[in-house]
Amino acid sequence: MSTIPKIVILGAGYGGILTAQRLQKELNYNEADVTLVNRHDYHYFTTHLHMPAAGTDSIEHTRVAISKLIDEFKIDLVKSNVQEIRLADKKVVLQDGTLSYDYLVIALGGEPESFGIPGLTEYAMTIRSINSVRLIRQHIEYQFALYKMDESRTDRLNFVVGGAGFSGIEFVAELADRIPQLCKEYDVDPNFVNVYNVEAAPTVLPGFDPELVEYAMDVLKKKGVQFKIGVAIKECTPDGVILATGEEIKSQTVIWTGGIRGNRLIEAAGFETARGRVKVDDYLRAPGHDNVFIIGDNSLMFNPEGRPYPPTAQIAMQQGVTCAQNVVAAIRGKELKKFVFSNKGTVASLGKGEAIASAFGKKYKGWVAAQLKKLVDMRYLFIIGGIPLVLKKGRFF
Ligand code: FAD
Ligand code: NAD
Repeated sequence: MSTIPKIVILGAGYGGILTAQRLQKELNYNEADVTLVNRHDYHYFTTHLHMPAAGTDSIEHTRVAISKLIDEFKIDLVKSNVQEIRLADKKVVLQDGTLSYDYLVIALGGEPESFGIPGLTEYAMTIRSINSVRLIRQHIEYQFALYKMDESRTDRLNFVVGGAGFSGIEFVAELADRIPQLCKEYDVDPNFVNVYNVEAAPTVLPGFDPELVEYAMDVLKKKGVQFKIGVAIKECTPDGVILATGEEIKSQTVIWTGGIRGNRLIEAAGFETARGRVKVDDYLRAPGHDNVFIIGDNSLMFNPEGRPYPPTAQIAMQQGVTCAQNVVAAIRGKELKKFVFSNKGTVASLGKGEAIASAFGKKYKGWVAAQLKKLVDMRYLFIIGGIPLVLKKGRFF
């Protein structure tokens, strides 16, 4: 029987792909067996999902076959759903089998957090995966088509986005860009369409630079977005949303961007979590499990001031690299490396040709920030797939 250590990576998102690619580079021939498990045979760019969701870009610009990103002579790709993590047995139960591991990397990404708000899980849609955004795009178009069959149903032209964090703002911007196109296609007067963005906090993008927040709101208001700030969605119903003030917005389309939590499989495995995220040590290991590494949206780490780092692709990628280095070090009996986050800044798109950014100690807005956003996206494509992937999937205009 083989005595080569078995490494299993769960999830081929930002953290998982970077871990796999780095492992295939660093491991010597026959030093370890590496298996990458993902529920799809493609990797998708979560950071781009708001565009196909609104219909302003295609699904094909948002994903790439995993086989194009890894060397399948070095890494076994298993397309399956992870159903259970059995820490005591060092096994992972998949929908169609079981895998045992010596080292486990958990990079399963986040899930929408509904905070127990009644009706959200049943009646709202979320921007989480290729499948979920396909549904949103089709649903929006269908509402226009249905409205044309019965123009008394004006609720079909009301679109509610719950939460004005980065996901909500980026989506609402794309939707506002798409509406004029849909109105033309379906012969609908744009004045009858309402796009609402509801935010519980006193401001959109809570915690972000106030000057950039104000700019973002101005741009989006000009595109027709109606903000409801400082008021929470209290309930979601088949007829729309009810706000904390008691106001009801009638709508057949509610997109929930009110926050995320860690993957529920992690709690089920018995880890201690905060909203599904595990407080990992400096080396990205789960407490009490030196052979289990948790990265990306499922991990919880704190900055030097003691505040949790927000779950982003940026941190997930950096963790992926350190995680791979630490798994290799652990196999070789070498010293592990502490993870240190290097913040490259934040760029948020506000639709076509518009964005805001806080990077390199400076603020950027408008066209310049929009070019920065493109650069960030292309840098990612280059990191995981080199120039061929940039040319194939990059958006240059
Ligand atoms: P993910 O990238 O979510 O990957 C998880 C993987 O695990 C997926 O491939 C999934 O299919 C797979 N998986 C999940 N469950 C199972 C299972 N049970 N079995 C098998 N496979 C499974 N961050 C930024 O830094 N910049 C941005 O501009 C940005 N934009 C964003 C825009 C939107 C609309 C959203 C929703 C998020 C955005 N983020 C952004 C956040 C960023 O996408 C996440 O923090 C990042 O994807 C986390 O990486 P991850 O590797 O932890 O998980
Ligand atoms: P988030 O937690 O950042 O924002 C959710 C927003 O919803 C908050 O502003 C919150 O106040 C609001 N909210 C919560 N409950 C509400 C309610 N009942 N009614 C109305 N509003 C409510 O979540 P997100 O925007 O999905 O972002 C998730 C993570 O992904 C974050 O770490 C974010 O930084 C990252 N992200 C980054 C980018 C980018 O860098 N461009 C884009 C998208 C997401």
